[in-house]
Amino acid sequence: MPKKHSNHKYIFVIGGVMSGVGKGIATSSIGTLLEARGLRVNLVKVDPYLNVDAGTMNPTEHGEVFVLDSGLETDQDMGNYERFLNRTLTSNDYITSGMIYKHVIEKERALGYGGKCVEAVPHIRDEIVRRFERAAVNDESDVSIIEIGGTVGDYQNIMFIEAARVLKMKRPNDVIVIIVSYLPIPGKIGEMKSRPTQHAIRQLASYGVNTDIIIARSELPVDKKRKEKIAVSCNMNPDHVISAPDIDSVYDVPINFEKDCLTNIIFKTFHMRPKTSGSGLGAWKKFADGVKDAKEEINIAIVGKYFNTGDFVLTDAYISVLEAIKYSAYALGKKPVIHTVNARDFEVKKPDYKALNKLQGIIVPGGFGETGIEGKLNVIRYARENKIPYFGLCYGMQLMTVEYARNVLGLAGANTTEIDPKTAYPIIDIMIDQKKKLADKDYGGSMRLGGYDAVLSKGTIAREAYGRETIRERHRHRYEVNPEFIARLEEAGLVFSGKSPSGTLMEIAELPRSQHPFFLGTQFHPEFLARPLAPHPLFTAFVKAAVRRIAPRSK
Ligand code: GLN
Repeated sequence: MPKKHSNHKYIFVIGGVMSGVGKGIATSSIGTLLEARGLRVNLVKVDPYLNVDAGTMNPTEHGEVFVLDSGLETDQDMGNYERFLNRTLTSNDYITSGMIYKHVIEKERALGYGGKCVEAVPHIRDEIVRRFERAAVNDESDVSIIEIGGTVGDYQNIMFIEAARVLKMKRPNDVIVIIVSYLPIPGKIGEMKSRPTQHAIRQLASYGVNTDIIIARSELPVDKKRKEKIAVSCNMNPDHVISAPDIDSVYDVPINFEKDCLTNIIFKTFHMRPKTSGSGLGAWKKFADGVKDAKEEINIAIVGKYFNTGDFVLTDAYISVLEAIKYSAYALGKKPVIHTVNARDFEVKKPDYKALNKLQGIIVPGGFGETGIEGKLNVIRYARENKIPYFGLCYGMQLMTVEYARNVLGLAGANTTEIDPKTAYPIIDIMIDQKKKLADKDYGGSMRLGGYDAVLSKGTIAREAYGRETIRERHRHRYEVNPEFIARLEEAGLVFSGKSPSGTLMEIAELPRSQHPFFLGTQFHPEFLARPLAPHPLFTAFVKAAVRRIAPRSK
């Protein structure tokens, strides 16, 4: 192990009582706070499921699949981490049970254990510890904050908690454990109950892991009396119970943690001194205040198919897109109001387009498969013909190209072969190297994934927005603009303003500003690089165009 690792610190974040209380945002926020104090932090997400990565999971059930620069398909929490840290994380920072078991079993098949009986303990556990250490060393960070998915008491995450125990035993002064717990206020009783939290901490203790800090999530702030009660029953200092009441904006979470001095408590527990004086949160605070100050509304729609099970699913399935819109809107001092448009509503013979007229911008995000395609194409056509700012993300770019081919080039029945493999005009077609993968049913981690360069042409909206010639953006697709149709599309006025460095793959399509205020689509997913402190230039250009469109009068 390189020398640096000898000083490395580990913070484990574990859920108590129940899921869905903001463990990911708490982890991200601790990252923001420690980086602001001059430490280099790597945030690690542990997902206890047996999927090797998140790429094969349905967004309606598990939320958005976030793609790292390396191409690894991960849980959406990695997106929160990168956004809160304003930094790119690596494949070492994402760990699933599937990865661990796959590695151990493959090693066993290759006689890597020298004839020993291979078992969960020690082999799975030690492989987990090895990966925690590898993430620390490879990222050259001072602190790793490792969020263990699930809740204390789950069967699924028990090996990871066991690995945390072993790491704490090996380096007692370098590991702290934080529980993000929940204190319910049952309606009939009307007072905050700390008993479930006490039980969660005792259960963790029964695995040999003591809790150092509690982040006490609740509807209301946790008072002194309850802090003391928890502290006595759990053998802790009452100051180590951090009150984390519900708040309107997740961006206030780091600031709220500081009210109970979380950073100082972490430094004290590690017997460390911060590298800087002051909270270092100036830029973050400015952003978080801007969120609250923005008053003038800007109405943007997302046209999608993952809306059918309610808003919870929407926000999770398109979280990076929603966040990207927000950051650019806030940077322009606007309050984003996001509307959901169900593509299916526009599949009927005579769609009612009135609702679209009220909008200032329309986004068709990434997607796979058939549902709502004709509806999306109708919406795109309407946006093009009525000069409503339009931004297509991956599938949204592919469909925008299909729409152009159908309605401007007059190629009736033009399509993507993902939908219509027999179309006479395969405007979007599978990439050559993807064909074999599909034929072999090789679905896992096999798309064109992760960061690739693109070169931008002068005098285009894209080039103006980025202000540079070469960009690097993240991808997740199997299909592309069919090279056989590029010349015809260009002759008909569609501009491919971004191309792969070899010039073969179309990365951005747009219409010149003389024809439309903003009609642009990207083969990549710009939303994955939008950060609170660094809004994405294309989203900003889109929102600017949306702001210029006359604001809707009625609500
Ligand atoms: N389904 C399309 C493809 O595979 C678009 C993918 C996406 O939007 N991420 O190319």
